Amino acid sequence: MAMTGKAGMYFNETHDAFRESVRRFVDREINPFMDEWEESSVPLHPLLKKMGDLGFLGIRYDSQYGGQGLDYWFDTVFLEELGHIHGLGVSTAIVVQTHLATPSIDMFGSPWLKEKYLKPAIAGDVVTALAVTEPGAGSDVFAIASKAVRKGDHYVLNGSKTYITNGTQADFLTLLAKTSDESGYHSFSLFVVPTDLPGFVISKKLDKLGLRSSDTAELFFDDVRIPVENRIGEEGEGFIYQMKQFQHERFATLPGTYVCVQDMIDMTVDYIRQRIVFGKPLLSRQVLRHRLVGWVTEAECLKHLTYHIVRMKMAGLDVTREVSMGKLVGGQLFRRVADGCLQMFGGMGFMNETPISRYYRDGRILSIGGGADEVMCEILARLEGY
Ligand SMILES: Cc1cc2nc3c(=O)[nH]c(=O)nc-3n(C[C@H](O)[C@H](O)[C@H](O)COP(=O)(O)OP(=O)(O)OC[C@H]3O[C@@H](n4cnc5c(N)ncnc54)[C@H](O)[C@@H]3O)c2cc1C
Repeated sequence: MAMTGKAGMYFNETHDAFRESVRRFVDREINPFMDEWEESSVPLHPLLKKMGDLGFLGIRYDSQYGGQGLDYWFDTVFLEELGHIHGLGVSTAIVVQTHLATPSIDMFGSPWLKEKYLKPAIAGDVVTALAVTEPGAGSDVFAIASKAVRKGDHYVLNGSKTYITNGTQADFLTLLAKTSDESGYHSFSLFVVPTDLPGFVISKKLDKLGLRSSDTAELFFDDVRIPVENRIGEEGEGFIYQMKQFQHERFATLPGTYVCVQDMIDMTVDYIRQRIVFGKPLLSRQVLRHRLVGWVTEAECLKHLTYHIVRMKMAGLDVTREVSMGKLVGGQLFRRVADGCLQMFGGMGFMNETPISRYYRDGRILSIGGGADEVMCEILARLEGY
């Protein structure tokens, strides 16, 4: 996506230089390996180490813990450039580290937790995962059944988690568990759970429709003893902390969506410009050109909703409403464009050699993961007072 000209209203030369360094990294260190990683999952330790060395994993985080201390515009530049990765699996794995597993440690963790866990995550010395979903609790986070019972200076954790991205490679999990039998929002706590603790088991690496370069696992906890100091913030506040962390996760899907939508359109235009059907390039058909500019228009709207959210975040405002709207329309737009572009590619679009088939498979997750479309609608209906 061209970021010159009008992009100058939002981004200065420092942002441009940062954008260039992320883009170079994606072009050299990620895209050439995507086909291989789709076969066997991306090896995250070496990849994240390189990203940590370049300062990509702690853009907004405190320099005391190795972060860059930059603002949400830099964060947006980073996420936009991840949108140029040829498939959503690797960007998902990276964003788990930067926007799913670490924000709550940054926002609510003790200095000790930050030093011990946030710092190595920012440096890329460890791989992290977020463990919220369970076999009986996905959309309904409140139904979580994993339980951590306080016994002296430890919590003893029992239960299971599923669909956990980075789950087979993670060195620690940011995990939500029940810490009280009471009902209500104050009966959960959030923990940092190292995966070398006895009783932690990777039950299964899951086989998926898309995001094949990212690993997804089912995890099991059998009397895992978590030191009390590994609790993030106050006991009983974990559900609230996780709802705040979700805003970072959902925001992180937006920039990559409008960038990737434009990439899909660009590659489709290149193809149908030279594809002759009934004696003419397909691009000469008005019906296709109109469909394409309709999508470009929607991607532009999503980009400006995202920039509006960035301005709100910079002003310290609550972005739950706008982020939920962005996630809802972004996922649906991505899926519609991937499907429509595949259609314009014809049989070639159905072949795995064409990137559009991967986007078509990968994009399906955007309306499910991190809160399904219907969950976004529920949040919005509540906020609108309906
Ligand atoms: C590839 C992948 C990676 C993931 N990574 C992680 C991760 O790293 N960490 C983690 O904790 N979780 C992860 N998840 C879990 C993900 O967040 C959940 O799958 C998601 O929240 C939906 O939960 P569920 O699958 O249990 O669906 P369910 O809760 O069973 O819902 C099924 C469907 O019902 C519909 N629905 C839900 N609520 C309503 C409603 N109120 N009204 C009408 N319809 C409704 C939705 O369409 C939803 O898709 C991942 C999932 C996938 C597939």
